[in-house]
Amino acid sequence: MGDDYRMQDRFAAGTQYIGGRLRSGTSGRTQDVIDPATGERVHSYELASAADVDDAVAAAREAQPGWAGATPGERSDALHRFAGVLAERAEELAHTETVQCGKPIKLTTEFDVPGTVDNTAFFAGAARHLQGQSAGEYSGDHTSYVRREPIGTVGSIAPWNYPLQMAAWKILPAIAAGNTIVLKPAEITPLTSLLFAEAAAEAGIPAGVVNIVNGAGKDAGEHLVGHPDIAMTSFTGSTAVGRRVAEIATASVKRLHLELGGKAPFVVFDDADIEAAAHGAVAGSLINSGQDCTAATRAYVQRPVYDAFVAAVADLMATVRLGDPLDPATDLGPLVSHLQRDRVAGFVERARAYATVVTGGEAPQGDLERGAYYRPTLITGADQDSEIVQSEIFGPVLVVLPFDTDDEAIALANDTPYGLAASAWSRDVYRAGRATREIKAGCVWVNDHIPIISEMPHGGYKASGFGKDMSVYSFEEYTQVKHVMYDNTAIAGKDWHRTIFGDRP
Ligand code: NAD
Repeated sequence: MGDDYRMQDRFAAGTQYIGGRLRSGTSGRTQDVIDPATGERVHSYELASAADVDDAVAAAREAQPGWAGATPGERSDALHRFAGVLAERAEELAHTETVQCGKPIKLTTEFDVPGTVDNTAFFAGAARHLQGQSAGEYSGDHTSYVRREPIGTVGSIAPWNYPLQMAAWKILPAIAAGNTIVLKPAEITPLTSLLFAEAAAEAGIPAGVVNIVNGAGKDAGEHLVGHPDIAMTSFTGSTAVGRRVAEIATASVKRLHLELGGKAPFVVFDDADIEAAAHGAVAGSLINSGQDCTAATRAYVQRPVYDAFVAAVADLMATVRLGDPLDPATDLGPLVSHLQRDRVAGFVERARAYATVVTGGEAPQGDLERGAYYRPTLITGADQDSEIVQSEIFGPVLVVLPFDTDDEAIALANDTPYGLAASAWSRDVYRAGRATREIKAGCVWVNDHIPIISEMPHGGYKASGFGKDMSVYSFEEYTQVKHVMYDNTAIAGKDWHRTIFGDRP
């Protein structure tokens, strides 16, 4: 394990990126970045103050008219170059993400970084396809058309689970559409967002278009959300904080986009390929140590195949290799922090009173003891209304429950406050099709769980929020439509003026 990129030196100029340069925060409060695999500090920085947020918003506001005035082709060219710079820096990005989050290098190298490069390339193309939908003579006497315009300056707040991808998901659609942005990453994972902003600048995206403030949620975060010069708030994080963000944004009448928590159901019908479903459940629940808002968390399995499924999942979980996240052979790294690991362990300990821990349920001892590791955990015997089934755990924990009828499976799948993602496993196209229609979630996979692609939207139903990341649907959040109407008659006394001018012809 180690800090080959020497974070403290790399970010010696500071851990805020404002107006095109790195600089220090001025809050007077220090935040450490800890490698959760070792518990060692890899970086220490001064958090952003409200004044730093003001500076970032001012830089973004200043850059906005020029950036919005660039042609779609110019913005597209810059984003294509941006994708190229990110691809050149893939190794540094992957390493830094692994060290600050504890993600296996396999995951950052094969998923986080290529996903981010692909997202950037997607938005380079999409920038040239921003369209208003209608143009025509709807009244007979006028020509109407719709302009799609940027919102202005966007304030975004991101969580710690996929810091690089979250920065990309927030920044790319915003700037592709001609907005400028101030992004606040999570305090404990500030580094890859800075690398992302630096790469944007190297690609020729003007200073001030992308700004990063690394500050505390309660002060810098709330100050950003309520800032009068921010036209829109885009937030990804927990539902509890999302509610607070919504209150502040609503009070100042801002456009709001919320990507919140999840508790994805994983429904296995009795005609499913059980080997495939078991592989899907293990990969889908353990990805990123389960710290994924779409992770499979509640498997509902039809009674005839329940025992076989539980046994297959337990066997597969035992094959997953915990280890040093920088080792390419490691399957599962630590959780993002010791605090998060202890939170997850708390859920499992409380569940022991009413459920069975089939495998896992503990932190590994020995070499891994000092890291924030937790073993893959399988739980059965819990009731639908228990804490472990209803609450977002955000750890490597899968709960399996049996069901009898298809009606019951769909009702159980819909029975949490969340609605971000779900999957249905069946060889019967009609059963799977019904599940895709009736499960209330922003994404339903059939015979898989987790894959995302740049072309398709990501976003929640219910308490998982509203609005979409990725895909052209994200432009609905980051643009506003304007109706423009021209008179075609050149007549002074128009027909509709009768409403004002009485009987005059
Ligand atoms: P969190 O809600 O604790 O924090 C998210 C961000 O909000 C951080 O940057 C934090 O500093 C900031 N924040 C905290 N308090 C704030 C306040 N009062 N005002 C403004 N900002 C504030 O979430 P987390 O623990 O960092 O991340 C895990 C959560 O994120 C999970 O609930 C997960 O489901 C969710 N998530 C959702 C999606 C999605 O697409 N729906 C994606 C990733 C993560």
